[in-house]
Amino acid sequence: MKTFAVVLALLFSVLAFADSASNQNTNRVWITDVIIVSPESLDHIGKGSVLIENGRIARVERSKKAKKPAGATVVSGKGQYLIPGLIDSHVHLASVPGMPFNQGEGKQKMVEEYFKQLPRSYLYYGYTTVVDLAVVDRQVLEDFRQAPLHPDLYDCGGSLPFANGYPMSFAPPAVRFKPFPNFVYDAKQADRIPPEYKPEDHTPAADVARVKSSGAVCVKTYFERGFAADKHLPVMGPDVLAEIRKAATQDGLVLMMHANGFEAQKFAAEGDVDVIAHGMWHWGELDKKTELPDEIKRLLDKIVEKRVGYQPTIQVLYGELAYFDPEYLKIDAISKVTPKEMLEWFQSPEGKWFGKELNEDGAPDAAILKDYEQGPLRRVRQVVTYLASKDANFVFGTDTPSSPTYGNLPGLNGYLEMKQLQKAGMSLAQIFRAATINNAREFKMEPQLGSIEPGKVANLVLMKKSPLESVDAYDSITTVWVHGKEVPRDSLAVNSNR
Ligand SMILES: [Zn+2]
Repeated sequence: MKTFAVVLALLFSVLAFADSASNQNTNRVWITDVIIVSPESLDHIGKGSVLIENGRIARVERSKKAKKPAGATVVSGKGQYLIPGLIDSHVHLASVPGMPFNQGEGKQKMVEEYFKQLPRSYLYYGYTTVVDLAVVDRQVLEDFRQAPLHPDLYDCGGSLPFANGYPMSFAPPAVRFKPFPNFVYDAKQADRIPPEYKPEDHTPAADVARVKSSGAVCVKTYFERGFAADKHLPVMGPDVLAEIRKAATQDGLVLMMHANGFEAQKFAAEGDVDVIAHGMWHWGELDKKTELPDEIKRLLDKIVEKRVGYQPTIQVLYGELAYFDPEYLKIDAISKVTPKEMLEWFQSPEGKWFGKELNEDGAPDAAILKDYEQGPLRRVRQVVTYLASKDANFVFGTDTPSSPTYGNLPGLNGYLEMKQLQKAGMSLAQIFRAATINNAREFKMEPQLGSIEPGKVANLVLMKKSPLESVDAYDSITTVWVHGKEVPRDSLAVNSNR
């Protein structure tokens, strides 16, 4: 009998413990008296309340008189706007802005500080979900996920460059294959591929299978003949893209293609990719046309009609221009997302190395700005204006950082991209949908993310201004909820007492 009693007592104490533990986890928060702005109901925006329970949205009340649920902590959103957490579906977490791979040596501590701040910088600007398009250093992604506070992270695994093509072409031939284990074999280039790589291991199907088994949600490939005068990189044909398309469909992966010119986007659209991962700033032979040419309009119509996801990534160009814009490093917000030592390095002559590389002829800053304004920036804006007028399927992605530039800083770059999109003719509603529901849909996360609806993850952002009235709203954030955990924005900035 005695033993039984002990067992029973033990059982009760276990149950009691379990109960108190679950009570502690029952994080019930009632955000009330707030203006709810959610993409599925932009036509009836009004005051309401949202109940968060155990990291999920449990209830959304759109009447003013809704009663506070028992046991909930109340957060007043009076005078503020509540939106779903933002999604940036084009980032490169392992690339450090302003820094080439080899310069990281001797700057270990600076780089460590940067990576510690990285997830916080995204959250500081309201990004609670990011998608990494090309995994080159899985450890960086693991560390990101282990950080005490971080956005949800999805990825496309190792990307699929065409053999010796972009971007493996940046590395010398002897070392360019190892970092791209999913490159696509090309029999015509057999003499330029090291013999240890067997054709059968690098078919589109084998590559996509590896991406799938790595836990990825998407596949990333490229169509890029090269830059400036050097446009001789090998590119895949439609047959190869068709095989990648077929394998991606079978594995339920979103197919994304790097394509920033007319020829490349035509190739991407005809090959039925899901997302074109850049704006069209190169028009090839049509570059000098001042009006949007009809043949480009026809392609854009097709992109709209097929509902291809479109990421304008205008900040890619500003990533380069930042070195020639004397105002850029003076932006206050840079110190919120960049650790002090790194910011000082950006300001040093050594830290501006990339700018020198971009401007080997030493042209005056103003001349470079003008060239961009009249060339690629003008063209990408004309394309975005046209796509916006047809309400294309914009999906928000920044390509942060798009090159080793300090002009693309995590979080802040998203805010700057939104300003660019507005300037290029997208409406505030289009920008808002692109960064929330469109991304969630495109990446099959809609059951979990992208709007303020019961059952979804409680990734929420509270802001002082309406995102439908000014783009500045995205810099008026006061609080971010990450899986129901309330985080004051200020605490996410560099040097706050975390
Ligand atoms: Zn990219």
